[in-house]
Amino acid sequence: MNDTNVKKKIVVAIDGPAASGKSTTARLVAKKLGYLYIDSGAMYRAVTLLALRKNIPTTDFDKVAQLAESAVIQFKMEGGELRTFLNGEDVSQEIRSPEVTKEISPVAANPRVREILVAKQREMGKEGGIVMDGRDITTVVFPDAELKIFMKASAEERARRRVKELAERGIQADFDQVLKEIIRRDEADSTRAHGPLTQAPDAVVIDTTNLSIEEQVERIYKLALEKVQDC
Ligand code: C5P
Repeated sequence: MNDTNVKKKIVVAIDGPAASGKSTTARLVAKKLGYLYIDSGAMYRAVTLLALRKNIPTTDFDKVAQLAESAVIQFKMEGGELRTFLNGEDVSQEIRSPEVTKEISPVAANPRVREILVAKQREMGKEGGIVMDGRDITTVVFPDAELKIFMKASAEERARRRVKELAERGIQADFDQVLKEIIRRDEADSTRAHGPLTQAPDAVVIDTTNLSIEEQVERIYKLALEKVQDC
């Protein structure tokens, strides 16, 4: 249910490692607040998909940056789900493919791509009233966000959730393989020179290992209401 008393529209920035439950939680928090939800990871995924489709190696920094520059990435909520559009085409399913996930790290490490996507993300959030999740939202995109959250969970729990989520989409995945991929992506995301995944000193840390989605949503929603009242 939306809270009709919510007047001031704040920015809720959420970061955390792969499969920490950010996207589902962020989407539901946004719904409760009546805010826009933006999945910044989907933007890096869309650029990666474009490179794969055009047979451009994801390690070709200049060509991939040109793609990011020209790509029109838009989001629409449809039936409670966030759909991602790349140059007008709904690519919501395709950007989640293992091929895209495997190739994404060089795209996310590309400083020019980051500059371009960060600018787009700031533009989307400039009026407030937004929940955005990713890796550098609390540190680079919106360092002045009224509410910053860092979500974490053990790698094993995250792998279990990812396997379940893939199974729900009809994709059978091997737990050990998924765990390995998550650890590899954590490492790549935390060690890159530009926009690495780090915990902002003023972020509220939520360990979701033993929390349900409903509990995560409730915690962040309450914190957001407190911030709104403080403003
Ligand atoms: O959130 P998701 O797992 O879909 O993100 C996919 C990848 O996009 C991450 O592993 C990371 O490399 C990159 N990413 C990023 N900065 C963000 C969001 C995602 O570098 N703000």
